[in-house]
Amino acid sequence: MKARILVCGGAGYIGSHMVRQLLANDYDVVVYDNLSQGNAEAVGDVPLIRGDLLDREALAALFAGHEFDAVYHFAALIAVGESVTAPDLYYRNNVTGTLNLLDAMRVAGVDRFVFSSTAAIFGNPQTELISEDHPKAPLNPYGRSKLMIEQVLEDYGHAFGIRSVCFRYFNAAGAHPSGDIGEAHDPETHLVPNVLLAALGERDGLEIFGDDYDTRDGTCIRDYIHIDDIASAHLKALGYMDAHPGAHVFNLGNGNGFSNKEVLDAAARVIGKNREIPYRIGPRRAGDAAVLVADSSHAREALGWAPATPDIEDIIETAWNWHRAPKYGPFAK
Ligand code: UDP
Repeated sequence: MKARILVCGGAGYIGSHMVRQLLANDYDVVVYDNLSQGNAEAVGDVPLIRGDLLDREALAALFAGHEFDAVYHFAALIAVGESVTAPDLYYRNNVTGTLNLLDAMRVAGVDRFVFSSTAAIFGNPQTELISEDHPKAPLNPYGRSKLMIEQVLEDYGHAFGIRSVCFRYFNAAGAHPSGDIGEAHDPETHLVPNVLLAALGERDGLEIFGDDYDTRDGTCIRDYIHIDDIASAHLKALGYMDAHPGAHVFNLGNGNGFSNKEVLDAAARVIGKNREIPYRIGPRRAGDAAVLVADSSHAREALGWAPATPDIEDIIETAWNWHRAPKYGPFAK
């Protein structure tokens, strides 16, 4: 029988790419999403149940009405800057919402959980490449909300037998090769879409947040990973949980850091010589670490995972193909 997967947040950027990959690999999928950020059309041809993780009754009904073999959880608030000014939102949605989901799973006897964590749990790194056991010192409530759930999952593994895999994404970027779905948030806070929107003249240029960091050109350095490579690691997590009880964590990135200015230059190369990408340097953004680059060797070795699209220009090209003719993004234009 096909495995049945609940995808919470399946109408969002990462979730909608995950749904595509699950369908391509013959899984049965149900999406649960409050559509606060997501777009119903990005889900495609699978059941979409509109609901919130803070609605415990709706969650109980969801699990009473379906049988699931595993749950993927992508339904979170993700803007670092906003989390600093509105931490209540972040703790309520990301922590309380996830606890509600785990409670509903326990009642229904569902014991497999794949969780979107983040490189933001590490804070400013003490090593060039960040491995799983690097000390955790998040700089913002977003990162703290994710770290709290990692700790919850460790405890739930011991106490309740919940099997889990947490993926700490470094910087998700790019779009589906079909060009159907891509990255769009409202407001858009992420670097790659903002660069492309500036190139298209759809925003008043790009603002780079700070050029006085202790990095090679003064701008922050991040590790960009293609969205479909994130999704392929999640697929492998299912088999991994079958063989490995307990709670597991993996860092997911390409192991190459690019500064914000280097991303801008790479985008200019992808887009072509004739298109200017206007930018200005602004103040630092609260909660930003200077450098975040992954050591993903654990995921490569334990999951047999490898990124299929590791090159920054290839990643940006898929994003550009979608941004030029956006169809369904979480906020399709
Ligand atoms: N950034 C920027 N201008 C923007 C959006 C992002 O300079 O319009 C910077 C941001 O300060 C950080 C990097 O780009 O240094 C990546 O930020 P993003 O929000 O894309 O991802 P994060 O690393 O916060 O998850």
